[in-house]
Amino acid sequence: MSGVAAEFGELYGAGPDGVWAAPGRVNLIGEYTDFNEGFVLPLALPHTAVAAVSRRDDGVLRLHSGDVDGGIVRLDVAGLEPGGGGPGGGWAAYPAGVVWALREAGHPVGGADVHLASTVPTGAGLSSSAALEVVTALALSELYGLGLSGPEIARIAQRAENAFVGVPCGIMDQMASACAAEGHALFLDTRDLSYRQVPFDLAAVGLRLLVVDTRVKHALGDGAYAERRAGCEAGARALGVRALRDVDVEQLPDALGRLTDETVRRYVRHVVSDNDRVARTIALLDAGDPRAVGPLLVEGHASLRDDLRVSCPELDLAVEAAVEAGALGARMTGGGFGGSAVVLVEDSSAEDVAKAVRGAFERAGYAEPGLFAAVPSAGARRVG
Ligand code: ADP
Ligand code: MG
Repeated sequence: MSGVAAEFGELYGAGPDGVWAAPGRVNLIGEYTDFNEGFVLPLALPHTAVAAVSRRDDGVLRLHSGDVDGGIVRLDVAGLEPGGGGPGGGWAAYPAGVVWALREAGHPVGGADVHLASTVPTGAGLSSSAALEVVTALALSELYGLGLSGPEIARIAQRAENAFVGVPCGIMDQMASACAAEGHALFLDTRDLSYRQVPFDLAAVGLRLLVVDTRVKHALGDGAYAERRAGCEAGARALGVRALRDVDVEQLPDALGRLTDETVRRYVRHVVSDNDRVARTIALLDAGDPRAVGPLLVEGHASLRDDLRVSCPELDLAVEAAVEAGALGARMTGGGFGGSAVVLVEDSSAEDVAKAVRGAFERAGYAEPGLFAAVPSAGARRVG
């Protein structure tokens, strides 16, 4: 952390006003449910975006990332417009978008110097983008005395990504990064952003959650996400509900019978059944039976692969190889088309499962996957 503050001093000639951190996340279950006003159950990773920030009131925003080539990006806050990250290229749009979204919401943010460094892998489906947005929003909220709550910070961050960067993401990533708690998963109702911390201290019960980064870069900006979203909205309209969240799993057979479009029917089946899987997962965790979550992960993966069709061969292989090697369960996590999978394993078999996944990738001729344990960690906070 102090490394980031020292780098800030070298860049800008004086130490920062403060240092903040915001984590990346993995989603345990509930995928493509957030834009259907449904349920999700993410947890924060130990990997964080760290930002050293100083307030300045002359209308100038200076941005620097230690993780990308290029120098300091200098922007005029009054001139910030959606679609323009400035001369520094794409990445600066994330923090600049947060400043824009704060000002749009009526908050008097008059400028800042920002230096960022992140340990969240980018493009791996672990929400490095949300970590960047949330850490920026939290720092500015504190430096400008805005007193924004976790959900308010998440909303600002999502607006930055949707409207300024131009990526149509839901609210899960930003809420997880802003509001998660150590040793817990975050049960989030995306309709009203109410949430509850669900005990998820795996180490205490001899379990581990592995993340398998397939190294296949997902591209949520392409049409697939928008197409799924439009299909779900069409399903809700056809069923006469505000959002697919309003269809209970008991009503699913009847709902499917009323849908004529085969694609929409598959999307509806995924969303309604995955919302139900979130509820069943939480019931198991509350009952102290985390091992029983394994089969729900496998079911969820099949639904994403066969009904929503957002998986890819590398994700399918990671899940298959892990389960075959004795994992309790596994599924793709995040937007799909690459990115990462989560694997629930007994501590005692974690090494064997990891080896089996690596071996399967090697035999298939895929790049070596990244593997690490997802220890449920704290949400965004001040660290210096
Ligand atoms: P994900 O959120 O799954 O990691 P995204 O495509 O949504 O993938 O976001 C990745 C983008 O976020 C990167 O291409 C880059 O523009 C930006 N980004 C993430 N981390 C950093 C960082 N440390 N420095 C600069 N830009 C970053
Ligand atoms: Mg992202």
